Amino acid sequence: MALTLLQVAVPVPEGPTQQDLEQLNRKVKSLRKSQVHLKMDMLRNIGSVGAVIKEAIKAAADLKKSDIGSQQELEEIRALYQKEALQRRLLYNQLQELRGNIRVFCRPRRDDRAKMCLKFPSDQDVMVTNQEGSKKTFNFDKVYTPEVTQEQIFTDTQPIITSCVDGYNVCLLAYGQTGSGKTYTMMGPEDNPGINIRAITELLKVCAERVETKTYNLKVSMVEIYNETVQDLLTSDARTLDLQMVGNVVRIPNITEMDVAEVSDIREIMKLGDSNRKVASTKMNSTSSRSHLVLMINVEGEDKVTGAISKGVLTLCDLAGSERISKTEATGQRLVEAAAINKSLSALGQVSIRSILRPTYIGVSPRSALKTLVEAINAH
Ligand code: ADP
Repeated sequence: MALTLLQVAVPVPEGPTQQDLEQLNRKVKSLRKSQVHLKMDMLRNIGSVGAVIKEAIKAAADLKKSDIGSQQELEEIRALYQKEALQRRLLYNQLQELRGNIRVFCRPRRDDRAKMCLKFPSDQDVMVTNQEGSKKTFNFDKVYTPEVTQEQIFTDTQPIITSCVDGYNVCLLAYGQTGSGKTYTMMGPEDNPGINIRAITELLKVCAERVETKTYNLKVSMVEIYNETVQDLLTSDARTLDLQMVGNVVRIPNITEMDVAEVSDIREIMKLGDSNRKVASTKMNSTSSRSHLVLMINVEGEDKVTGAISKGVLTLCDLAGSERISKTEATGQRLVEAAAINKSLSALGQVSIRSILRPTYIGVSPRSALKTLVEAINAH
């Protein structure tokens, strides 16, 4: 048996040299240095992030504070605005009151068939000479000459129309004998419109001027009062309407209301009302001179800043002829009409100022103003 011994040589690693150790030492030192720098950088950065966060917190707090400040400022401005608006409204409407809550204007019209029996000593007086030759002077808030234009008449009613936009109720009545010019003054011909069209045009204009602070909504109703019945002229069957008294306020439930956004709307509505009036009058055998025509414009406004709502109504009436039909002259239906007209027109003299604007009143007593008007017309 042969035994072979195999000798394997295994290499033994050599130990690090002094040089290696020195190099390693230098690297460790440099790494330590970098670590210190990194730590310092990190601490510095953390510090600046903290400062930024602190600043942000402060800014947020300031923002909150300034938000409260601007809220307060806004509230103050809002209160001031409200006060100013109220003050302006009060002053404006006080001025209207000082001019008289009820004003009676006299507009004569020329009639070539009649001898001129009126003289105009001033713009507030009219002198009437009766058939026997005796003279009497009547005083009004304003007396026009027959040459006055539709525009001039309207100019004197214009300021109170603005009151309506401010939430006040305004009423214009045309009172006079048949043929004296009531319909001409209120409605007028198409090419020379009267108060109705001009007043609604003005309402729309005033509302449009305030568009930045207010939103307005205008609605129109038109009724005819014949004897004791109220008819809705904006329905084709001229439906009869019932009146309701709620406290001091007269309500007409179920009345037709139409939106008005521009002048052409009102012309259309009036045309519709006029044609319905003709149908109704044929049915009832009445004529326009023996019924009252009432146009109501509801103006509702909402203040965009305060949210306050104002509601005003402009009522325009073309009244029945004021001629007093003696009961002995009239019979049957004419007698009923005469009684109804006389009753409603004499009710004008009982108008209480409390029902118009406010309890305080300076100016001509409404009762005496209307009495003067009735007397002047009767004297003529
Ligand atoms: P009333 O409504 O009082 O019965 P109207 O308005 O119908 O009277 O007027 C009668 C007539 O006189 C109409 O033909 C009308 O055109 C005319 N008229 C009335 N006032 C004037 C005026 N200021 N200028 C011109 N014509 C007028």
